[in-house]
Amino acid sequence: MGDRCAHIEAAVGQLRSATGVVSVALSSLYETEPVGGPPGQGRYLNAAACVETTLEPEAFLELLMVIERELGRVRRERWGPRIIDLDLLLFDDRVIDSPGLTVPHPRMHERRFVLEPLAEIGGAVIDPRSGRTISEILMSLP
Ligand code: ATP
Ligand code: CA
Ligand code: CA
Repeated sequence: MGDRCAHIEAAVGQLRSATGVVSVALSSLYETEPVGGPPGQGRYLNAAACVETTLEPEAFLELLMVIERELGRVRRERWGPRIIDLDLLLFDDRVIDSPGLTVPHPRMHERRFVLEPLAEIGGAVIDPRSGRTISEILMSLP
């Protein structure tokens, strides 16, 4: 919602200055139609970032949620319009299934709006669950 580009830039700025974050490389921004959620939503702006961090995955997700809150995100209905949404897609080749964190992100494989920006910066990265690269998963979408 709002100035989507500014919100992404603010989130990346906060990420870059956070303790435990070494570097952040951002993909281009992709404008896409909303997928799921309530009817009548506007278009989304999506990007993928490659982050080098000394944090463990749980602490990194916590950081993402702090940044979401600082940018003013209020949690309403799932998949509804929001100021910002920061998801953890992959973390090295780790597979995590804990109550608050699933890595790789469980719905990334079916989402063109995730795989396109992700392929731009990490097409050769291997999804540890399927053994396929991000580019292969993207090309296999219907
Ligand atoms: P989706 O998860 O389908 O993209 P969403 O991003 O809108 O939907 P949120 O309301 O932002 O969903 O997050 C719901 C919960 O998902 C969070 O409370 C978080 O604990 C959990 N979660 C589990 N795995 C992840 C992950 N890899 N990245 C981000 N959140 C995750
Ligand atoms: Ca999401
Ligand atoms: Ca999320």
